[in-house]
Amino acid sequence: MRRKIVAGNWKMNKTLDQGLQLVDEILSSSETSSQVLKIIAPPYIHLAAIAEKLSSREDFAVAAQNCHHLKSGAFTGEVSAEMIASTGAKYVIIGHSERRSFAGETNDILSQKVNIAIDKLTPIFCIGENVDQRNANTHLETIRAQLKDALFHLTAADFGKIIIAYEPVWAIGTGVTATSHQAQGVHNFIRTEINKKYGKEISENTTILYGGSCNAQNAQELFSCIDIDGGLIGGASLKATDIVSIINSF
Ligand code: PEP
Repeated sequence: MRRKIVAGNWKMNKTLDQGLQLVDEILSSSETSSQVLKIIAPPYIHLAAIAEKLSSREDFAVAAQNCHHLKSGAFTGEVSAEMIASTGAKYVIIGHSERRSFAGETNDILSQKVNIAIDKLTPIFCIGENVDQRNANTHLETIRAQLKDALFHLTAADFGKIIIAYEPVWAIGTGVTATSHQAQGVHNFIRTEINKKYGKEISENTTILYGGSCNAQNAQELFSCIDIDGGLIGGASLKATDIVSIINSF
């Protein structure tokens, strides 16, 4: 179901105490509203504690930042989708550009992660071009290939569970945000590709988030675009006043 969502990806930041304090601050300064779903993606080891803290708030949910592509086994240091679900987390970010570049995750591995996660968790699947692809004007081809290679094998029923995050790599953590015109153009392209593959109903119902230096100053303009359903927020999710102001930007 298409929803307005603000998801905060803490990456490798916050001790448990700092994370719990940040959640307290967000809760005390954001009104209970079912209109916007707020998702917090802390490091794995904080998932259970933060899911427990948010369990009474239906407008909040918890996500992992990654999961392994296999069910279980001898994979030291890895975490499975089933383990994540057992903490109370309901979402998982898959295909973040930092995983693609630092951990060498390919569309093939990412498609396996989606397959293993989809029964237990809602994937927030990240796609987006790098600066060279944008400058060469091949960004739409890149995005089409990411969709096709990692997601378009899914049945319509399973694809209907996916949230997409369009995150141009050149905008992540750089302070350079896509203009609302650029972001809306790509979101519309993504929706059109989904329409071609799965039809109008599924494309109209897919939640597509924007990520990449989204902040309290630019969120309102981005979120007012017709195909942008909210944001996946990195740096600005680490401070309560910033993330609450982004949440209030709808
Ligand atoms: C991200 O890492 O998904 C992200 C959008 O980061 P930032 O908001 O810091 O650009």
